[in-house]
Amino acid sequence: MKYDKNNIFAKILRKEISCKKIFENEHVLSFYDINPQKKIHALVIPKGEYINLDDFNHKASDQEIVALNKAITIVAGLLNISINKGKGYRALTNLGEYGGQEVPHLHFHLFGGENVGKMVE
Ligand code: AMP
Repeated sequence: MKYDKNNIFAKILRKEISCKKIFENEHVLSFYDINPQKKIHALVIPKGEYINLDDFNHKASDQEIVALNKAITIVAGLLNISINKGKGYRALTNLGEYGGQEVPHLHFHLFGGENVGKMVE
């Protein structure tokens, strides 16, 4: 599968579409989900062109992989939902059709600010 440069997150990265930014560094961008499913719903995405987590782990550099992982914890801290600052949260990524992925650019969802319930409902 080829990366679709016209996906919505690619447009956000190119600043063709705005987002409510939470955090950014060389490798990562984080912003609020436009349609929050929980009290706090943030997204963390790599800046590189990766379709999903498997694509990322196959192709990304170690630096990018570390940066994305660390960004999840950084963003949770900024949002006060981490174990240290809050009461915890859920980080998840959907992969492909059966995984329920809608936007074909790797993204982690961070859900928190309330008890987010069972993992699969
Ligand atoms: P997924 O189903 O895992 O691919 O999730 C895609 C997520 O992207 C959904 O939660 C959408 O609400 C979110 N989304 C779509 N467009 C935007 C946008 N322009 N800004 C922020 N979040 C978006």
